[in-house]
This record gives sequence, C-alpha cells and structure tokens, in this order.
Amino acid sequence: MTAQRCEATLTLTDVNNFQLRLRSFLDEYDVAYRSDERQVAIELPGGEARFSVSRVGLHVEAEAATRDGLETLRSIIEHYVSLFAGENALPLHWHGDVVAAPTFANFREMRVTRIEDLSPSIRRLTLSGENLARFDHPEEWHVRLHFPPVGIERPQWPRPTAEGGTQWPPEDQRAEIRYYTIRRLDVVSGEVEIDFLLHDAPGPGGDFARRARSGDICGMAGPYGRGVAPASHYLLAGDETAIPAITRLMEMLPASAHVEAWLEVESPVDALELSVPDHCDVRWRYRCHGYAPSEQLASAVVESMPVARDDLFVWFAGEADVSQRLRKRLKQEFGLQKGQHLVTGYWKRESA
Ligand SMILES: Cc1cc2nc3c(=O)[nH]c(=O)nc-3n(C[C@H](O)[C@H](O)[C@H](O)COP(=O)(O)OP(=O)(O)OC[C@H]3O[C@@H](n4cnc5c(N)ncnc54)[C@H](O)[C@@H]3O)c2cc1C
Repeated sequence: MTAQRCEATLTLTDVNNFQLRLRSFLDEYDVAYRSDERQVAIELPGGEARFSVSRVGLHVEAEAATRDGLETLRSIIEHYVSLFAGENALPLHWHGDVVAAPTFANFREMRVTRIEDLSPSIRRLTLSGENLARFDHPEEWHVRLHFPPVGIERPQWPRPTAEGGTQWPPEDQRAEIRYYTIRRLDVVSGEVEIDFLLHDAPGPGGDFARRARSGDICGMAGPYGRGVAPASHYLLAGDETAIPAITRLMEMLPASAHVEAWLEVESPVDALELSVPDHCDVRWRYRCHGYAPSEQLASAVVESMPVARDDLFVWFAGEADVSQRLRKRLKQEFGLQKGQHLVTGYWKRESA
C-alpha cells in the first residue's frame, strides 16, 4: 500500500526552544524518537511524525499507511504544536493526502443501552454503536469520549476539513472530551462497557454517567494506549479511574508472571467484586485522612520495590502530580530504564 503523507509549515521564531521542549516531553513519557540538530522524528502506532527546522520556522510531516493513521498522526502533531507553540499556532494548513469527510475515521456515535451501579461510586454504562472492530486492540484500550452539552437531541461532532484540520461545531454545541477505558468490548453485538467514577466535583464525564438514561448519546474516538513490556514481576497500582485498565492488564499478563496490584477507592463499600487470575495478588487501599488521592498507592509501589529490578515492570495511574513524582523516583532513585515503567496521570486535582 502506498504511504499517505501530508505536511505543514508554521512560522515560529524559536524553533530550537520548541524542539527542546518536545524532546524533554518525549523523554519524560519515554516515547521513542530519533533526533539530530534539524529534526525530531517520532515513531507512533500507524506511522511517523517529523518536526524539522525550516526557513520560516517549523516544518511538520506525517506519514502513515492509511488515511485513518494519517488523521491520528495529524491530531498528535497538532496536540504537540498546541503544547509547545501555543493554541494560537493552530489550525495548521496541511498539504498532501488530506480529504474532507463527514466524520473522522476513528470516530463513532454511541448510545447508552444499559446502566449498572457496580458500587456507590462506580457506574458501568454499556454504549452501543456500529463497526467497532478498530477498538478491538491488544494494547490500545483507551478512548476519548465526547460529551455533548445537556439537552441537545442531535449532537454535532468535529469533522475533517479539506485542509486536514478539524471543523468544530459552534461553541454552544461543542462536546467536552475526556479519556476513558474500554473495560469490555463485543464487536459482534456492537457494545462497549465503560466504568465511570462518580466523583464529587462537577465535570462533563462524571455528570454524563450520573444523569445517564437509556438512549443518551456521546461520541467515541480511538483507540489509544500503550502496552507493557515482558517481565517476570509486575507492580500495578491505580485508583478507581485505573481499575478497568488494571483489570484488563491482569487478564492478559502471562500466568508465569508474579503480579502485585494495589487498587485505591474511597472506602470498603466502594471496592468491586473482581474476578482475578490466580497468579495476581490484589490488595485494596481505602483513602485515609492526611494522604492525597493515590499517594498511598505510590508509597505501596515504592515500599514493594524489589532489590533486583532487572526483570520488573511498574504500571501506575492516578492523580497527575502524584504520578509525576513517582515517575521521577522510579527513574532517579530506583534506576528503572525506559520500557520498565508506564506511569500516567489520569486526572488532575484542582488544588494539588
Ligand atoms: C488514559 C485514561 C483512561 C481513563 N480511564 C478512565 C475510566 O475508565 N474511568 C474513569 O472514571 N476515569 C478514567 N479516566 C480519568 C478521567 O478521564 C478523569 O477523571 C476526568 O477528569 C473525568 O472528567 P470529568 O469531566 O468527570 O471531570 P473534569 O471536568 O475533568 O474535572 C472536574 C473536577 O473533577 C475533579 N476530578 C476529575 N477526576 C477526578 C477523580 N478521578 N477523582 C476526584 N476528582 C476528580 C477535577 O479535579 C476537577 O476539579 C481516564 C483517564 C485517562 C488519561
């Protein structure tokens, strides 16, 4: 299949600073890339994104095997441009293999068909939609759910423009987007199950689940995610938002692996009945006064670090600041190498 390509140029006075910030972001999150004085090239699922110094500033290129892959790369490039050159640098004007279309290839409209409370704080919604095969991926389990404003019967969704950008609905019709994890997928019946934490603070994701009625509509784009490396010993830890991902991980790790997992919820009534493979040792942690959310989990991981760490993998997801501190400690204090850890902030505490 011929590769699909597109490119765009952005006037930027300090490209070196852009490249520097991009490289340190990629280093922090252990994303693999090649770089020299002129260019940073990132290999991503489905293709490659390149950021080069040009005469006027920054030249970006995306190359992928499919239109779908190219769209995903463009959205990742635009995300990095907005982070390191500012929102005002967007939209980019792309040239090459770009087409206008009614929807993005990775986007589906979904409808709530079942609602089940797993605990007082976690609600499972079954969402039904068409043509879900692309979400059946061994390592990419996450989706971006688009929650339309309340009271809109026929939501409008973002669509690709002929310049390779995104045409967003008018501000008052625009959906809010949050990441969630597919807990279970049935491609044949066209269903996904998503477990929502009903946290106290208002927010489009939690609120959508809290007021869900059969027939409610949201958008779903993806999938996204990253797998774990082979190891004989895994330490897994996460709060409610990470229970779906940790449960999926435990289901797929080989029975020969030693797996220790810590799951944090508010109190014992919030713990879930999980069916866990025999080789996985799961311990629940309940929030304690004096600890920030997910801080006890980070301590559990640190206290359980084995002396021999060559064959260890640490997976952690929780509050963003706690995650960032843990990531730093794992690298600096415990010497974990690239590919030995995946530590992610799943949500941000406002006052943290
Ligand atoms: C890859 C990935 C996968 C995820 N999978 C899941 C999943 O399967 N299930 C799930 O429930 N969440 C999941 N999350 C977390 C979810 O995206 C965030 O919790 C998100 O902030 C929820 O959006 P919201 O609209 O409810 O709140 P926001 O509008 O984002 O925030 C509103 C307020 O709520 C607070 N808040 C947000 N999340 C929490 C929380 N967890 N605990 C306490 N206060 C909070 C914020 O601090 C803020 O004050 C995932 C996140 C990522 C990055």
